[in-house]
Amino acid sequence: MSLEGSVLVCDEVDPVLGKILKQNGLSVSYEPSITPEQLLERAAGYDVLVVRSRTRITADVIAKATKCRVVARVGVGLDNIDKDAASARNIRVLNAAEGAINAVAELVLSMMLSLARQTCRGDRGMRDGKWLKKELKGTELAGKYLGIVGLGNIGRRLARMGRALNMNIIGYDVVDIDPAFAKEVGLMRADLDTLLSSSDYVSLHVPLLDSTRHLLGAQKLALMKDTAVLINTSRGGVVDEDALYEALEAGRLGGAGLDVFEEEPATGSRLAGLDNVVLTPHVGAQTREAQSLAANVAAEKIVQALRGVI
Ligand code: NAD
Repeated sequence: MSLEGSVLVCDEVDPVLGKILKQNGLSVSYEPSITPEQLLERAAGYDVLVVRSRTRITADVIAKATKCRVVARVGVGLDNIDKDAASARNIRVLNAAEGAINAVAELVLSMMLSLARQTCRGDRGMRDGKWLKKELKGTELAGKYLGIVGLGNIGRRLARMGRALNMNIIGYDVVDIDPAFAKEVGLMRADLDTLLSSSDYVSLHVPLLDSTRHLLGAQKLALMKDTAVLINTSRGGVVDEDALYEALEAGRLGGAGLDVFEEEPATGSRLAGLDNVVLTPHVGAQTREAQSLAANVAAEKIVQALRGVI
């Protein structure tokens, strides 16, 4: 049965979203450059508002959006949506976390490989006219211990990838872990301190909550081997960046790969002055495949929510 209703897409989103919504009878206005003022003026006319990370659905927008039944984020997290204001008006708030799982896990892998073989350093040297061959003796991932903090969707995907590269997988989570998955990857379950002191690579995959803010501060970083590498593609606040900088600078830690920062954009980060780091500008979910999958998932969820199926 065809649905009735109108959707306002406020950010740049893969076209598959509009296609699925239209196939289900909805009318779609695509306004990827809409300003906050324009959104306030127009919010009243739509049943569904769709955003990525640029547009904020504030309490003021919700107050104006008198027809609105669903707010959807084509991505992970709901930081840019006032969930309390939405739920007070019985507006469904949806996201599409599934899109990013593989993209983030592959980014972690690329950072681990890049730090193991110092490809970024080699590349920087070549650009400066330097042949750093003697200084760039690397290491291999096979046989190393990969400690994964947070065995949710991304953590589990990374565990499987690490296992495929013959790494030994150590895992820590606050919830129970599926025994079939544990068996599949040969998981060694450990508490956080044991994981940190035993791993050659530590990758963080927890949400940013009060309980995870600065989960890795000076004390925890001190437990890690001085050759170990820390990868953070979760959220900036999970790592104390000042403590991390000091550990890396003092040679108490082997290296770090960071996609997320305490303040973004982190263009002035002093971490960029260190050789043993790989830094990326929060691109974890930024692959064509992830964007299209997220748009697909978000569209299907919007349709199901309007049909009352979810
Ligand atoms: P998920 O919800 O599937 O998994 C998170 C896991 O962390 C859960 O198993 C949970 O039990 C566990 N956890 C919570 N608190 C913990 C604690 N104190 N100690 C140990 N484990 C704890 O989430 P996901 O989809 O795997 O995403 C993981 C992280 O990646 C999130 O922070 C998300 O925001 C981030 N992320 C980043 C990007 C990016 O662009 N870099 C893209 C997608 C997701």
